[in-house]
Amino acid sequence: MRPESLYPLFAPVTSLTGIGPRLSALVAKAAGPNVADLLWHLPSGLIDRRHIVSIAEAPIGTVVSLRVQVDRHLPGGSSRAPYRVQVSDESGTLTLVFFHVKGDWLHKTLPAGTERLISGVVETFNDARQMAHPDHMVPLEEQANVATIEPVYPLTGGLPGKVMSRAVRQAVALAPDLPEWLDPHLVARENWPSWQQAIRRQHSPETAGDLGLTPPWRRRLAYDELLSNQLALALVRASLKRGAGRVLAGDGALRGKIIAGLPFSLTGAQIRSAAEIAADMAEPARMLRLLQGDVGAGKTVVALLAMTQAVEAGAQAAMMAPTEILARQHFITLEKLAAPAGLRLALLTGRDKGKPRQKILDALAAGEIDVIVGTHALFQAEVVFHDLGLAVIDEQHRFGVQQRLDLAAKGRAVDMLVMTATPIPRTLTLTAYGDMDVSRLDEKPPGRQKIDTRVLPLNRLEDVAGGILRAVAGGTKAYWVCPLIEESETSDLAAAEERHQHLQSLLGPRVGLLHGKMKAAEKDAVMAAFAGDKLDVLVATTVIEVGVDVPQATIMVVEHAERFGLAQLHQLRGRIGRGDAHSTCMLLYAPPLGEIAQARLAILKESDDGFRIAEEDLRLRGTGELLGTRQSGVPECRLADLLAHDELLAMARDDTKLILAQDPDLESPRGQALRTLLYLFERDAVVKTLRSG
Ligand code: ADP
Ligand code: MG
Repeated sequence: MRPESLYPLFAPVTSLTGIGPRLSALVAKAAGPNVADLLWHLPSGLIDRRHIVSIAEAPIGTVVSLRVQVDRHLPGGSSRAPYRVQVSDESGTLTLVFFHVKGDWLHKTLPAGTERLISGVVETFNDARQMAHPDHMVPLEEQANVATIEPVYPLTGGLPGKVMSRAVRQAVALAPDLPEWLDPHLVARENWPSWQQAIRRQHSPETAGDLGLTPPWRRRLAYDELLSNQLALALVRASLKRGAGRVLAGDGALRGKIIAGLPFSLTGAQIRSAAEIAADMAEPARMLRLLQGDVGAGKTVVALLAMTQAVEAGAQAAMMAPTEILARQHFITLEKLAAPAGLRLALLTGRDKGKPRQKILDALAAGEIDVIVGTHALFQAEVVFHDLGLAVIDEQHRFGVQQRLDLAAKGRAVDMLVMTATPIPRTLTLTAYGDMDVSRLDEKPPGRQKIDTRVLPLNRLEDVAGGILRAVAGGTKAYWVCPLIEESETSDLAAAEERHQHLQSLLGPRVGLLHGKMKAAEKDAVMAAFAGDKLDVLVATTVIEVGVDVPQATIMVVEHAERFGLAQLHQLRGRIGRGDAHSTCMLLYAPPLGEIAQARLAILKESDDGFRIAEEDLRLRGTGELLGTRQSGVPECRLADLLAHDELLAMARDDTKLILAQDPDLESPRGQALRTLLYLFERDAVVKTLRSG
C-alpha cells in the first residue's frame, strides 16, 4: 500500500486551493492529474521582478516592477473601451489598461491617492507609456512578495500562468521530507540535496542556469527517476523469473513443415534469432526475450516458429497485438504460414461477442486451439487457457508492466517473447525494457529495393497529387498520411477529412479515409477496400503506422513530416516497398525548415537503417521526442535527459543490481525507503510483486 506520507501528493489537483473542475482539466492537460505531477512539471524559465525602476527608465517590452502613486480612474464608458488608471512617480506617468474588468474591483485594488507596487510589461502606445493588465498590484508593505524571481511553467491553451504557478507552489509545499532511499556515499560524493530540498530548489530558480540539466538538485531528481525505472524493470523481471520455468523443447517436426512451406528462405538473422529463442524455451528457466527488428525485417515468421515449438511441446501459444487491425493481419498471415503444419489458430478481439466469442473461449480452455492471436481482449479474466506456454507480445511498448504481469499469470511459467519494430537505441532499450535478453534481426530479407525518399515543401502538394494520379493509372496504390497535431485528436481528424475531400476533388472517388475515431468494422472495410481493388489512395491519420500490409502500395506521402519523430516516419515508410516494384516516399514539410529539422529529414533520405536513424534522431533532438510523443514506448522521462544524464543511467543500473542482490524484497530500512520511491513514481504494480508487498 502507498505510504501515508505520499497521500497528499496523490490527491487530485482539485485538492489545491483555487483549482476547480474547469481549471483542473487544464492543469491535468499541462502537467498531469495528481499533485505529484506538478512536482515533475519543471519551470521552463523565470521572470525577475526584483528590479524596481522608475517609469521613465523602464525598458520597453520586459517585465519590470514599479513603485507608483495612483492618480485617477478613467472608466471606459462603453463596454468595449478599456478601463484606464493613471499612475505616476517622480519620473513620469503611466497608464494601466484593463479590458473587461469591473470598476469596483479596480477601486479596491488601486484606491486613488495610495501608493502601489505594480509589476508587468511596459509598452508604448501613441508615444505614451502604458501597461496592460499588470501581473501584480499590491500595497508597498507586500513588496517583498512580488519583487522576487518567479519560475515560469509550460502551459496549455486557456490556462493562466498565475494559476499554474500557484498550483505548483502549493504542490511543492506539500512535498514531504521522505526517508533517504539513496546510498549515503553516493549522496555525499555527488553533493546532492535530499529529495525534498531538491524539489524545492528546482522550483525556485535564481538564475537561468539553475534550470539546466547539471545542477546537483536536477541530477538528483533525474537519478531518482532513473533508479525507480531500473528498479521497477528489475523487479518485474525477477517476479517473472521467480519459480521454476518449464521446458518447451519440441521435436522440430511441425517447424520443419512450416519452414519447408515458406515461399522464401530464412535470412541469417532470422535463423540466428529463432535458434536463440528455441534454446531459451528449451531451458527450464523462464524466457524473457526481446526480438527487435526493423519494419519488414521478418519478425512474424520468427514468432511463428517459437509458437510452433510451444505447440510441439504440447502447450498453447498466444500472440498479442496492440490494435485490432494488426491482430487481424497477424492472424491472416499466420494462418497462411502455419497451414502446412496444421496448427489450429483463432482470433480474439474486443469485437467478438456473444456465442462466437464463447465458442472460442471454450475451445481455448479445452485445448482445441493451439495458437490464439488477439488484442487486449486476451487479458480479460474470462480468457482461460488449457495450457499457455508462450506469450508473444507485439509492439510491446504500448503495453504496460501490469499487462505483462497479467498475461504471464494466465499460464504456468509462461515464456515471454516481446517483439518491437521500434528501432530503439541501446540506451533507450535499457530504460524501456531493463536487462532483457535481446535478439536482433539486423538483416533484411534479400531483394528489398531501397525506397526513394524525397523531401518537398508543402506547396508542391498539387504536383504530388498529379504524380499520384499518373501512378495510380499504372496500377499502384498510395498512402497519404495526415499531420499529427499535438493539441487534439479532433483537429487531427478535421485535417484528415479536409485532405480526403481535397484529394477526392483532384483524383476522383477512389480515395478512402481511415482514422482512429472510426469503428473497428468501418476501419476493416476501408482497409479491405484499399487492399482489394476498390480504393487507390488511402488518406489516414497515423493509425496505419503499424500493421497494414498492402504489397501494391508503392507511394507514401506524409504531410507535415517535420512534426513526426524520425522513427515514426521510418515505420510509416516501411508500409511501402513491400512488393518488388520501385517505391517512393514523399515527405512534405511546411517551410521554413530549421537547421535541425532539415538535418533530420535528410537522414531519412540517406538511410534506410532504422537503428542508425534512431541514433541520429536521438543525437539531434534528445530523447523526449525521439519516438514521437504519442507512440512513444519508452517510459516518458520527466526529469532525466537520457543524453545529458547517460552516466546516471549506467549508475542506476549498477545500483539496482547491488540493491537487489542485498535486499531482493526491499525489506531493509533502505529497502522500505526505495518502496516509497517506487510509489512516488507510480510503480505501484511493481511493489505488489514483492513478497511482502
Ligand atoms: P516485420 O513484422 O518484422 O515488420 P514481417 O514479418 O511482417 O516483418 O515481414 C515482412 C514481409 O517480409 C512479409 O511479407 C514476409 O512474408 C516477408 N519475409 C519475411 N521473411 C522473409 C525472408 N527471409 N525472405 C523474403 N521475404 C521475407
Ligand atoms: Mg510485423
